[in-house]
Amino acid sequence: MMRVIAVANQKGGVGKTTTAVNLAAGLAELGRRVLLVDLDPQGNATMGSGVDKRTLVHTVYQVLLGQVQPQEILRSSARGGYDLLPANRELAGAEVEMVGLGRREVRLKASLDCLAGRYDYALIDCPPALNLLTVNALAAAHAVLIPMQCEYYALEGLSDLVNTIKKVKAGLNPGIEIEGLLRVMYDPRNTLAQQVSAQLKRHFGAKVFDTVIPRNVRLAEAPSHGLTALAYDRSSKGAQAYLQLAQEFIARETQTRA
Ligand code: ADP
Ligand code: MG
Repeated sequence: MMRVIAVANQKGGVGKTTTAVNLAAGLAELGRRVLLVDLDPQGNATMGSGVDKRTLVHTVYQVLLGQVQPQEILRSSARGGYDLLPANRELAGAEVEMVGLGRREVRLKASLDCLAGRYDYALIDCPPALNLLTVNALAAAHAVLIPMQCEYYALEGLSDLVNTIKKVKAGLNPGIEIEGLLRVMYDPRNTLAQQVSAQLKRHFGAKVFDTVIPRNVRLAEAPSHGLTALAYDRSSKGAQAYLQLAQEFIARETQTRA
């Protein structure tokens, strides 16, 4: 069965796209069949996968509106080892246009169900908002992976996301759970980061991934070349951290489903 993971956090710039792209590449590296879904009109996951968002004829937008089948827009990230449902700024219109359509919260879920036989994992890169697109991701997901920076306001922002997940769990998707919290751009020498990290563990316990992603310039450079960190600089600390995350992710999945 394809396991669907939403990579979500309503804050921008917290490492969602970097995590979605590089975890996808890491899981692919470990032999898993992976689909990456770009659900952000910024199209950063698309560009970071080596697909030019400006040349796309059809995107996730038409899929959500029911105008094309997801199979028709599938692209492969040649160097990433995974497949992609791409997006660009057109997707910003979906929010408004879906309002008039039926079952507007579960349109992504219906589309992903069509692809379920092809993949082990689908990772959804969410936009930086708790909007209808993110609700579609949460409705489609078995679990949510939350990347976060260990800053002062991080925990506050987290409670809005956790409340949204609870609402989705109570209505649209009773099975949804938190897959894990991932500390990104982490600097172990920063006292505040240590404190927030300790607080996070008190609140969320084993849900906090042991793997931490350090701040690493290679992770920021790779997307400008349309490459995952593994393809851009395999030995970099960032690439290796995401590979380790993929390993931990798989180990946890086998543990919880044994
Ligand atoms: P989001 O998708 O949540 O908006 P991004 O993944 O796009 O966040 O990250 C925001 C910015 O930070 C990007 O420029 C990205 O390249 C950079 N970045 C993300 N993670 C790291 C990291 N671990 N080290 C250095 N730069 C990072
Ligand atoms: Mg992003």
